[in-house]
Amino acid sequence: MNSAVWKGGSDCWVWLGDKEGSFRVSSVKRSLVNNIDYSNNYVMRWSKWVPTKCNIHGWRAEMNRIPTKDVLEKRNIPVLNKSCVLCDSSIESTDHIYTGCTVAAVVWEHISRWCKVPPIFGFSVRDLLELHKVNYIGANKKEVFHGIIIIACWTIWKARNEKVFEGKDVKIEEIIADIKSFGYFWFKHRSKGKSIDWSNWCKFSFM
Ligand SMILES: [Zn+2]
Repeated sequence: MNSAVWKGGSDCWVWLGDKEGSFRVSSVKRSLVNNIDYSNNYVMRWSKWVPTKCNIHGWRAEMNRIPTKDVLEKRNIPVLNKSCVLCDSSIESTDHIYTGCTVAAVVWEHISRWCKVPPIFGFSVRDLLELHKVNYIGANKKEVFHGIIIIACWTIWKARNEKVFEGKDVKIEEIIADIKSFGYFWFKHRSKGKSIDWSNWCKFSFM
């Protein structure tokens, strides 16, 4: 709303899909046919081989709609300790958990070596969800890499919840092992990569 300037007069609806601003069925049809989105909303690319629960988590995390401690506090839910459950050195927020946390840093460092890509840095969940678009990832690996990023976000959140609700210690090696094993199981059984074996999966090698 900060960028909005009131120029007087009364409010009126404007249809962005037409030059004159008036709604027409023909302009709706044109935007559907040409796959045009006139909103400013970010549209996350969902990974087809990754379970819906992981895609939904990534989608919600990008919108800052997961119940981190800072979000709970904004909704007047009492939070006794605001520290990140994973590292205990910063206030828990979505961006911190996935980009600023030392636990996430180790996970991304491992994934960058595993997938043979330059070190992964991001300032937001959206940055992570856009990583697969860079040119240094081959076309046949983009979909796999994108799915791994989504699984990694879900697995980090799962470890966080197991600590909060079950008191289970956070072990980075277990998070990494889960990302690899869940990823292998889902890729093998939910995609066309049925012939891949564990050895090639661990080398991020696809024929
Ligand atoms: Zn942290």
